[in-house]
Formats: sequence, C-alpha cells, structure tokens
Amino acid sequence: MVNSQELFERAKKVIPGGVNSPVRAFKAVNSNPLFISRAKGSKIYDVEETEYIDYVGSWGPMILGHNNEAILKSVEKAICNGLSFGAPVEAEVQIAELITEMVPGIEMVRMVNSGTEAVMSAIRLARGFTKRDKIIKFEGCYHGHSDSMLVKAGSGVLTAGVPDSMGVPKNVAADTLTAIYNDIASVEKLFAENKNEISAVIIEPVAANMGVIAPKEDFLRELSALCKRNGTLLIFDEVITGFRLAKGGAQEYFGVSADIVTYGKIIGGGMPVGAYAGRREIMECVAPVGGVYQAGTLSGNPVAMAAGLAQLEILRSNEQVYKHINAMAKILGDGIELLAQKYNVPANINRVGSLLCVFFAESVVTNYAEAKKSDTVAYAKYFKSMLKKGIYLAPSQFEAMFVSSAHSEDDIKNTLNAIEGTFMEMSK
Ligand SMILES: *Cc1c(COP(=O)(O)O)cnc(C)c1O
Repeated sequence: MVNSQELFERAKKVIPGGVNSPVRAFKAVNSNPLFISRAKGSKIYDVEETEYIDYVGSWGPMILGHNNEAILKSVEKAICNGLSFGAPVEAEVQIAELITEMVPGIEMVRMVNSGTEAVMSAIRLARGFTKRDKIIKFEGCYHGHSDSMLVKAGSGVLTAGVPDSMGVPKNVAADTLTAIYNDIASVEKLFAENKNEISAVIIEPVAANMGVIAPKEDFLRELSALCKRNGTLLIFDEVITGFRLAKGGAQEYFGVSADIVTYGKIIGGGMPVGAYAGRREIMECVAPVGGVYQAGTLSGNPVAMAAGLAQLEILRSNEQVYKHINAMAKILGDGIELLAQKYNVPANINRVGSLLCVFFAESVVTNYAEAKKSDTVAYAKYFKSMLKKGIYLAPSQFEAMFVSSAHSEDDIKNTLNAIEGTFMEMSK
C-alpha cells in the first residue's frame, strides 16, 4: 500500500513543495501532509485508509459533506454528454438564474474558474466602472493570489509570514491601500487621503482567512455608507461566506448589500468554479456588452455547472441545511469554550454561523494584529494531537473550521471528546 510519506517524498521532487497550493503542505504545523484517497459525508480517508472527521471540507465547498449523491448524479449525467464545448450550455443559464433568485440585489452573473479569477475580474470591473485605480482592502483578508490582492493578505500568505509576495510589481501594490478590519476610522482616513481616487473597497464580510473574525455591529453598514458617499463600489468577497451564512450569503445574513459580489468554493460543489455578480448597470460593463475585458476558455464548463447547480438547488430548497450546520457549529463552539475553561487552556473561540476558529490567544480577536498574537506553537500541538485522535483540522491557526450538513451530533460529540483529551494533554 502507498503511504503519505512516500508520496510526499515523490511529490517534492516534481511539484514545488510537493503541493499544488501552499497551505496543504502542513508547514505551519511543522508536519507533513496526508494524501487523501476518498471522502464521504463528514469523513475523509487517507491513502492508508485511516478515517478522519473532516473540518476542512476542501476549504469550504463541501457544505453538504463529501460526495453528495445528488451532486454526483448531476455530474455523471453531464459527463456523458461531453466535458467541454466552448459554447453556451443550458446549465449556465440555469445557474445564473438560480443565483439571481437566491441572492438579494444580484441581477447578472459571470462564471469563472476560481475565486482568484472572480476577485481579479471584479476589481477590473470596479476600476472600469468608476474610472479610478485605487483599491482598499483589509489587513489579513485574503482575496486569492492576483497581483493587486497580495498585499497584507491572509491564509497561506499570513502563515508563511510573507506580507507581500515576491514578483508583485511595486506600482501594482501601490494602488492597493490597506485598512484595519473592524476599524471604520482607518477606512475614513484612506478616503480622506485619496479623494475621488478609490474605485472599490473589497472585504470578506466575515474574515475567514486570518482565522474567523466577525464584523463588529454596524461595521459593514458604515462601510457601505462610506462607499456610497465617495462614489466607490463595495465588493463583498463571498468566496467563503456565499451560500454558507445563508442562501443569500453575508448580504442576507447582515442585511447589507454590496455592489459586486465574488463567489467560489460552494458555488462549484467541489469543481473549480468562481463567479462575480452584481446589478445590471455594473455587470453590463463586462465584454461583450461593455469595455471591461474578461474571458475564459473553460468558464461555465458543463460538468462544473452541473455540480454547482445541484449543490445550489439543494441549498435553495432546504432551509434546514442552514439550521443544522449552525446548530452543530454552536454545540461545537460552546463545547470547546467550556473545555478550554475546564482545562485552563488560553483559547478564544470565534464563530459566525457554521464557520469557527479556535484562537490560542489570551484575549478576544477582532482584527489581523490581534490574530497574529495567537500562539501558533500551541495550535500545532493541538492540530497534531487532534489528527492522532481522528479529527482532520486545517493545518494552520489562521484558517476556519467548516461544519457541513453531513456532520452529525455524534461527530460533534466525538470531536469534543478528542478536544477534551487534547486540552488535557496541553494543560499539563
Ligand atoms: C479561497 C478564497 C479566495 C480564492 O479562491 P481560489 O478558488 O482559491 O482562487 C478568494 N477569496 C476568499 C475570501 C477565499 O476564501
């Protein structure tokens, strides 16, 4: 039987760092990755057939658990008709119609192939629409790896301690201004210093790439008002929160609307899909109607659309999915909090809906600077102990735990038992 160690050794010879996306390398927890052979429901299996309860969920897409039957059937049907045509298909119309129905304020949708591509395109669109160049983003928010967004980014970039990637031109980064999450004054200051120059403010409405951080009461509303006053577009990067916090994502959950919304992860049901969307007036600036160019050979791919469509249809017609994932995440979050108190482990639990993060921090975490104070050595200990006990967590302090509709009360109970054992070890 192959094992993860052997595969990783082979991988490192032919793939940079042995992985096709940095956070998978387990570097932040000083460990080596597991190679996965299959997954079903809430469980994931490595190549040695070890079973884990999975809280990574492919980094967000698997809101219905792994290998959902309805999604599989939809994909199987699509595959039989051909993998790609480079011409319009019915499923593209269906998914766009479905999204406009599910999400308040969205009138048009353009499909792309990843969250990175969605954000990159949304930013070009905002610049084209406003005829301005500058962008405001928030420290610790991750918006994919396009040049202008690799400035004080979160996720793997945060973990690796590389605030700016090599290879990003200085003049590109210069147009990306950074504000502090949950600090409206820091945004007001940038607006005052750059009058009539800001095309867009982009934000993760719930930050989920520096751990999980909720927006403070009224922060998003104030941000929206500030953008309106300045003729600036507000972009919600809902690559994680879209279709997860609610059918209508963060816009519905917080009752705040954005001008452009970006999607990825859940929207593809596990296939490589992204999208950007907004009201007609803005979206019609995109080619071939308008002058903002954006294209994709495999965009709206029929197999990918079949997966996304099946997943979104289930979410549209099953409100109990949201009730279930939020309830399970609450039991889990509350349980962890109690155990941290019981074993005197300095942990702060942040939770918004089905997104959770256990920060090994002494005090409450509301922004990037506070997140960075977390004890990453403690997280690594926690991670390794949990893995040994059959719980697969994100291999970094600065990522979310994703709860899916396949997580049962038993899964949560078993996870809390593992956490109790781990906290007991850690408190010694
Ligand atoms: C994952 C993520 C992206 C990038 O999506 P990819 O599909 O990995 O390119 C962008 N924004 C947010 C908020 C994300 O979580």
